Amino acid sequence: MSTIITNIFPGRYIQGPNAFKTLPEEIKRFGPRCIALLCPFSTKVILPTIKQPLHAALDLFDATEFNNECTDEEIDRLVQLANTHKPNVLLGMGGGKALDTIKCVADKMGLPCIMCPTMASTDAPCSALSIVYTADGAVKRIQYHRKNPDVVIVDSVTVSKAPVRMIVAGMGDALATWFEAESCKIKNAPNSTNSGRPGSLTAYALARLCYDTLLEWGVQAKCAVEAQTVTPALEKIIEANTLLSGLGFESAGLAAAHAIHNGLTQLPQTHHNVHGEKVAIGLQASLFLTGKGQEIVDEVYTFCEAIGLPTQLNDIGLREVTDDELMIVAKRSLEPGDSMINEPYPIDAEAIVRAMRMADHYGKARKHGLLSKQVSTQLHTRKFVQLHCH
Ligand SMILES: [Zn+2]
Repeated sequence: MSTIITNIFPGRYIQGPNAFKTLPEEIKRFGPRCIALLCPFSTKVILPTIKQPLHAALDLFDATEFNNECTDEEIDRLVQLANTHKPNVLLGMGGGKALDTIKCVADKMGLPCIMCPTMASTDAPCSALSIVYTADGAVKRIQYHRKNPDVVIVDSVTVSKAPVRMIVAGMGDALATWFEAESCKIKNAPNSTNSGRPGSLTAYALARLCYDTLLEWGVQAKCAVEAQTVTPALEKIIEANTLLSGLGFESAGLAAAHAIHNGLTQLPQTHHNVHGEKVAIGLQASLFLTGKGQEIVDEVYTFCEAIGLPTQLNDIGLREVTDDELMIVAKRSLEPGDSMINEPYPIDAEAIVRAMRMADHYGKARKHGLLSKQVSTQLHTRKFVQLHCH
């Protein structure tokens, strides 16, 4: 039986050292008037380097600073600004929340938008959805847009100077992509395009490429950011974190790892950790939840340890977490509309709590050298490992 599939993509993806130099020509393709939303870092550090060529090339380049949260109030402020200035195109520069905000404005006004992430920490730049928050920082809704951003520009020099923690977190988010894609593929589950339809071969293959790229180049890329320098490995990881992970989650779909992440956000102790760090914990728990084999479990843990992702609940603020608290996480991850449903087999809350305890214990046991040497797979000897579900 065949099904209707749906994949979605950003219009154009540009990446490389000093890629922000392409901004004048990329903006001009849409017209001479542009309004930009910049995070405070971009206003201070990047704007002075791009302002002059943009003013020279365009009739209007008006930059406004982001208020730090993607709220309806901030969206309305920018809609008003755009109504006054009549831009041909909107631009967002900064982290995921600034980009999510400008995507909402662009969709509301029917304008094209250009995304300029300054870190490779999330896959927000490429996607056709935004997470809208209340003024006090709680998630209000997921807003789907009619299309993906028209242009995504990633300047690898800028990314190389961002905090190391952010590129590592981006790898945590990207690491889950293939596992979740694989579950969706087995189940023929709907992806994250809000179409209710599954993705295609292309999306599943990109998710696998994302995983292979991380394992091959992740350690070097982290070192490159520590040295604040651009290398071929860093370029590959920026692409994996931003483009491959974005296409993978959106067109292939999400499953247990992100559902557990969403559950973890219910516990205030985890609020000091960024998205990708909690996704990594969600992924490790999902390995035990779905009964993955020894080799793949060790591959994931070895990689997480090698780049410094959390491998224990303690690492995300849950040192003395109770079973009752883990039950809150489990129940939230099973809510209708969340992605746990995309796992091919029935899963209940008790099984999720057990898997989180097991993953935590496994992380601890590895850290304290309590496992036999043979179970620790070395990344450099890795084979093409297939997933085995129960
Ligand atoms: Zn994610």
